[in-house]
Amino acid sequence: MSMQSEMQSTPEIRYPEVAVNTYKPKNPVSVPVVENRLATLDVSPNIIRHITLDMSGTELEGNIRSGQSIGCVPEGFTERDGKPAKVRLYSVCSPTRGEDGDGRLVSTTVKRVIEEDPETQNLFLGLCSNYLSNLRPGDMVKVTGPSGKRFVLPENVDDFNYVFFATGTGIAPYRGMISDLLENGFSNQVALIFGCPYRTDLLYYTFFREMSVKHENFHYLTSISRESVRPDGTKPYVQYQLIDAREVLQPIVKQKNTLIYVCGLKGMELGLFRILAQEGYEDYLRIDDEIKDKSPDLWDREDLKKRIRPSERMLLEVY
Ligand SMILES: Cc1cc2nc3c(=O)[nH]c(=O)nc-3n(C[C@H](O)[C@H](O)[C@H](O)COP(=O)(O)OP(=O)(O)OC[C@H]3O[C@@H](n4cnc5c(N)ncnc54)[C@H](O)[C@@H]3O)c2cc1C
Repeated sequence: MSMQSEMQSTPEIRYPEVAVNTYKPKNPVSVPVVENRLATLDVSPNIIRHITLDMSGTELEGNIRSGQSIGCVPEGFTERDGKPAKVRLYSVCSPTRGEDGDGRLVSTTVKRVIEEDPETQNLFLGLCSNYLSNLRPGDMVKVTGPSGKRFVLPENVDDFNYVFFATGTGIAPYRGMISDLLENGFSNQVALIFGCPYRTDLLYYTFFREMSVKHENFHYLTSISRESVRPDGTKPYVQYQLIDAREVLQPIVKQKNTLIYVCGLKGMELGLFRILAQEGYEDYLRIDDEIKDKSPDLWDREDLKKRIRPSERMLLEVY
């Protein structure tokens, strides 16, 4: 592995100026769907779709950076309380130049929310995710955005290595970011650790596999949580790659100029924070003195809320 010489300090992280909230929920813009295809294998119990919108002629054309989100307004639908449906956010999964190279075609990765209501036992379908997933090419959809300023690559992108952790649709921003990096000759290290329940849920697998074959500085690791257990009986969640793939990840994570991005299910932070601390990567965390002597094994949700925060070297987008 080619590795940049070890840095003594973290370079300043300069964030780019990005467009935000050009279209707000009160003035969304209508754009056509151009593609809506399954992103998971058709035998998967989870339904995740890759949906592409044409932003041509709107202020969103060419103005959405990978890592940002767009909002979707499920027009004509009402919330449980009878009020008009509110906007939901979806991370953009296309590169900054769009799917077409000119910033017109912008994609997102949408998981159909299908649950059983614990009280009534009735099947519950998430409002917006199912509305979006049902759209066909040619249908119009009202969108807002762009949204988000900080979950993007720094302007001084070449000053860093990147370690991306994702669960489920949390992969979306990294499809774009990894294209932005590797297709523009980025030569530092990039690692992607993607977690999903079954192999049928590996999103954009062929794309990432091909990228890892083509670029020796890109390391693609998958954590399939429900098909095996680790020797100690734990499920192989993403954070355990810091131990199980130490050979690959340690030389990158220990560099002072490495940034960690975390995207996906709320709840993935605690496990990841614990392992980062146990493996000696405290630089990515701000831990209050109050729990400095508490073993990370014993950290709980209350600690996470009040006493542990990511440092400037770790960017979080969980939902
Ligand atoms: C920054 C950001 C980025 C995001 N990116 C993505 C992305 O890339 N892809 C993606 O798929 N999602 C993403 N999300 C999540 C997305 O915004 C929505 O929250 C998600 O799609 C669910 O919305 P929904 O309208 O389908 O579900 P809702 O109808 O809003 O329901 C949400 C939850 O409410 C509960 N609930 C509501 N009504 C009932 C009921 N009658 N009975 C039982 N339970 C009920 C359920 O627990 C359900 O899961 C992102 C969120 C954020 C904040």
